[in-house]
Amino acid sequence: MNWILPREAVVVAVKTETPDTKTLTLRLRNSHERLDFKPGQFNMVGLPGIGEAPITFSSPSGNETFQHTVRAVGRVTRALTALKGSDVLHVRGPFGSGWPEDEAVGKNLLIVAGGMGMVPLRPFLLHVFENRIKFGRIVVLYGARTPDDMLFRDEVTVWAEQADTKVLLTVDEVPVGSTWTGPTGVVTELFDHPGVLLDDALALTCGPELMMRFVVRGLLLRQFPASRIYLSLERRMRCGVAQCGHCQIGPKYVCQDGPVFCYTDLRGWPDTLL
Ligand SMILES: Cc1cc2nc3c(=O)[nH]c(=O)nc-3n(C[C@H](O)[C@H](O)[C@H](O)COP(=O)(O)OP(=O)(O)OC[C@H]3O[C@@H](n4cnc5c(N)ncnc54)[C@H](O)[C@@H]3O)c2cc1C
Repeated sequence: MNWILPREAVVVAVKTETPDTKTLTLRLRNSHERLDFKPGQFNMVGLPGIGEAPITFSSPSGNETFQHTVRAVGRVTRALTALKGSDVLHVRGPFGSGWPEDEAVGKNLLIVAGGMGMVPLRPFLLHVFENRIKFGRIVVLYGARTPDDMLFRDEVTVWAEQADTKVLLTVDEVPVGSTWTGPTGVVTELFDHPGVLLDDALALTCGPELMMRFVVRGLLLRQFPASRIYLSLERRMRCGVAQCGHCQIGPKYVCQDGPVFCYTDLRGWPDTLL
């Protein structure tokens, strides 16, 4: 496999998740190929003449199609979210480390997501629910800026109904005209709800780096072991294969060694808020 060479993918479906975020369902154009990947890995997704951006898989692997959920923030992501069915784009990947699926087996799981941070956690959660018997209790804490920014709302409701699963949602603010009956406040305020901090748990978190800083601090203060906290980092990257150096932090390349890291591996590195 030549990791620099893009493959063509066709847009099969487009779903609007929030006012600025869409989920693209894609299929490799060469129908003999299937893209296999691990939850937490990403593709470099591009459009000729426009550019390329790292985008996480938002669906589980093992199907003919795969999904990317994209928030329009700039040139590439605006073009990606403007695509329609049958349009063609380029993908290179899968890249990166992915969530620690094997280590999670048999353990309780604490999932802490902020905003778009739910995107890489969704395929992991769907994998866990698909193989429910292999895992212990699941706690999902999800915070978004407003109710309208919360991704995958229908699925989140279904997750909350699963056995041995607790889902707690919070938003920073409720704009006039939005409906919200849950709590308001930052996601770490949910740590003190009964039954959230379970023994023998693995914590997986993704969101803005400042949020993850407070998630890590909050967990450590409550005696949660650093070696059981995993984070997915976001960094600007170009190549995806540890050649260009754009995503280097300390001795590591986020594209190749990450984006998922155990907290003990990145504690004390320069250039992170963690
Ligand atoms: C491993 C990884 C996985 C990602 N997965 C997703 C995903 O699933 N869905 C999604 O929508 N986005 C994801 N992103 C972020 C996405 O790659 C960037 O938003 C994208 O590169 C922006 O490109 P652009 O040309 O649209 O915007 P640009 O014009 O390049 O940037 C628009 C604005 O966003 C800021 N910005 C761009 N990239 C980053 C970055 N990596 N970190 C911090 N600020 C940035 C810029 O400073 C600028 O203010 C991921 C990033 C990484 C590193």
